[in-house]
Amino acid sequence: MAEKKILTKDFGAPGLAHLAGYEQTGGYQAYQKALKELQPDALVEMVKKSGLRGRGGAGFGTGQKWSFLPKGVYPRYLVINADESEPGCFKDRYLLEASPHQVVEGLLIAAFAIGCNLAFIYIRGEYLPQHEALEWALAEARQAGYIGKNVLGSGFDVDVILHRGAGAYICGEETALLTSLEGYRGEPRLKPPFPAIKGLYGKPTVVNNVETVATLPHIVSNGPDWFATIGTETGKGTRLWCMSGHVNRPGNYEMEMGAPIRELIYDLGGGVWKNRKLKAFQPGGASMMVLLPQHLDVGLDFDAIQKAGSLAGAGAMVVMDETTCMVDMCRRYVEFFHHESCGKCTPCREGTFWMTNVLTRIEEGEGKAGDADLLLEMGNNIDGRSFCPLGDASTWFPRSCIKYFRDEFEQHVTEHACPFRKERVMVA
Ligand code: SF4
Repeated sequence: MAEKKILTKDFGAPGLAHLAGYEQTGGYQAYQKALKELQPDALVEMVKKSGLRGRGGAGFGTGQKWSFLPKGVYPRYLVINADESEPGCFKDRYLLEASPHQVVEGLLIAAFAIGCNLAFIYIRGEYLPQHEALEWALAEARQAGYIGKNVLGSGFDVDVILHRGAGAYICGEETALLTSLEGYRGEPRLKPPFPAIKGLYGKPTVVNNVETVATLPHIVSNGPDWFATIGTETGKGTRLWCMSGHVNRPGNYEMEMGAPIRELIYDLGGGVWKNRKLKAFQPGGASMMVLLPQHLDVGLDFDAIQKAGSLAGAGAMVVMDETTCMVDMCRRYVEFFHHESCGKCTPCREGTFWMTNVLTRIEEGEGKAGDADLLLEMGNNIDGRSFCPLGDASTWFPRSCIKYFRDEFEQHVTEHACPFRKERVMVA
């Protein structure tokens, strides 16, 4: 099984990260087509018709999201969420490094479609080379007249501000991102009102993911019908999957929506490393529920993965071999969420702290009978009672692990030790 390359089809072309190289591959033709041949409303309809769903995690319809902007209210803003921070997720980094102009072109198309004259890119603070690549790309696009006043004589004015975050995972949540962009501490806001109504500086705002906008030039060039023929009934096009963990060939792979998970892990990824058996995998990064080998034939698309009991999230496939201790995985993840909790609400701030403590004592051989149920109870008191999805999502992986691997939790308690530590040393 090969990849289905749309966004990555020109990767490796000479000079792709710079304007001349990108234009050699047909770059900025879609933007020019949009400016010359399409009205903003027609563009919104085109993206709706294509069936494109956001690639950031929630999978909401992109054109539908755009159409929530209130009519006649200006200024309105577009913010590109490049604050990619989910453990296991590195697809936006790949796009930004290899083809920053593709992201800029998509941003400009989106800005034109929604009537935005000032757009922002909020990039993760640690993404220094990617920030530099974007700075270059924006300068080149400005020089070429793609950004500025009256772009290519179309009457469309647009400027773009590139902003670096300061290393907070929570700023990937769209309302925290907007708060941070305004110069305040990055904490989520109450929704509603949603950003489409009251976003950046209190104005209507669309927040789109990097991969989402990078898809737009292809939809404009080839048409929505072409895009809608790729993928599944409810998941159109392709998606970048960043695969990591115990797999022979980790990396980014562009797959048609609906392709079986087995093809990603075994055909493209070369299977589980060191000839070991597959124990489990996570299809959407640290937040998402664990799946098992019995789920290998589930399709890589939003709805199929949800039906199987997990979520596609930000497209990060984490592979775990038979030597993986699920208690230790849970401990590491929940500790991460505790560290990244913004502290605004009690269930998340305190709950992740206590879950980390209980998971640590189980892993260290000091767990008590009933700890697995205690973790479930704690999870129930966080999920649905937190202010933003960080708190909810911090409980999903541990709760799914207790569902599938309860014996492992109990074995830690009865043996007063992690059964995998010795095994890990023996097979290493
Ligand atoms: Fe902050 Fe966590 Fe509450 Fe979200 S759930 S607002 S990250 S404390």
